[in-house]
Amino acid sequence: MKTQRSAELFAQAQQLIPGGVNSPVRAFKAVGGTPRFIARAQGAYLWDADGNRLLDYVGSWGPMILGHNHPAVVEAIRAALEEGLSYGAPTEREVRLAELVREAYPMVELVRFVSSGTEATMSALRLARGYTGRELIVKFRGNYHGHGDSLLVQAGSGLLTGGGGTAKSAPSSAGVPQAFAELTLVADYNDPEGLKALFAQQGEQIAAVIFEPVVGNAGVIIPTEEFLEALHRLTQEYGALLIADEVMTGFRLAKGGAVELLGLKPDLVCLGKILGGGLPVGAYGGRAEVMRQVAPLGPVYQAGTLSGNPLAMAAGIATLKTLFQDPPYRRLEAYGKALQEGLEDILTYAGLPATVNRVGSMITVFFREGPVRTYAEAVASDTERFKAFFHGLLEEGVYWPPSQFEAAFFSTAHGEAELEQTLRAAQAALTRMP
Ligand code: PLP
Repeated sequence: MKTQRSAELFAQAQQLIPGGVNSPVRAFKAVGGTPRFIARAQGAYLWDADGNRLLDYVGSWGPMILGHNHPAVVEAIRAALEEGLSYGAPTEREVRLAELVREAYPMVELVRFVSSGTEATMSALRLARGYTGRELIVKFRGNYHGHGDSLLVQAGSGLLTGGGGTAKSAPSSAGVPQAFAELTLVADYNDPEGLKALFAQQGEQIAAVIFEPVVGNAGVIIPTEEFLEALHRLTQEYGALLIADEVMTGFRLAKGGAVELLGLKPDLVCLGKILGGGLPVGAYGGRAEVMRQVAPLGPVYQAGTLSGNPLAMAAGIATLKTLFQDPPYRRLEAYGKALQEGLEDILTYAGLPATVNRVGSMITVFFREGPVRTYAEAVASDTERFKAFFHGLLEEGVYWPPSQFEAAFFSTAHGEAELEQTLRAAQAALTRMP
């Protein structure tokens, strides 16, 4: 496969942008090789700067559930474009998108739009601290909630693939003050007993627990019922807020995300990715009594020059309306089931120890034996094998996330032909593996 133009652009980019990329995992650091510079996208496919067509399982890391350039989304943005780009004043589109969020998440009585998932989680934590008057927060090892200081502690995603320096019980990134990290308690996902012990020690000082309701950022990890039950019980018992970070899972696993799928009852949810349909949007919301603490109603300050941007709102409204009018979740589940079973068959036939974790349209192939239910089990995967798998797929024109510790996403634009191509590519990739 030709990569000359991507290599030239990467060389130029490295002279101008740290590592040549504006978000670390794009640099292929974990897998090596030349990151593909993308020139355009349509449906389930990307075309790179050398003209190669790539079947896309990254989906911009989650937003593109309708595939690239869905006509309803493009048309909505085009219409908004005619009316001006940004006003810094309220618009009807913000009201309409807020209504759609509440339709999907009835527990979100009030919602505030921001411009990224990071802003959503940062703001939700500030709100939880303001509301409870407490300072400690709890997060789970290997969960990723964006790059806010308090949340870059034992974090997943790019941090697991060499994006920042890590030391045990320390920030996941240089530049995060130890004093901030000390306000973030870290517990193990799917370990209700550990969480209970943490609350028994410091529960009265805990403002909130934030969690990925299905983990995507250590690869896909599925929560156990006992863990979810402990999250609800302990936060209620100690008066801490439960924050479901649905930035990745919101509108993806069901109309109402993991909250609907798993019957969760969080106090606040954080949203992003699909909510903006490919443009920068995040949101946090929940019970009115809590959300009323946010400025200008209450003392918790949070603002944004481009928050509620008309183009971004238009893309979000078109995306959510398209999803709600013809819910694709059964079709995505059918594709996912066939993909998972196909991959499992190929892996078994090749005699390679591997575990495929999947919920709906989020999937990870972990190169290790046995179940992957915890962060420790995920990081015990064979990353050299993953590397070979990734490059094998790429050679066959399938663009999988360039790290073992990420979820692959597919969209409503992925159909029979794409499934066949993926399984053929996986077969070819595995026969060439060490
Ligand atoms: N929360 C979760 C669960 C995420 O997966 C991400 C990004 O991958 C974020 C928060 C941060 O969102 P953003 O990258 O839009 O800042």
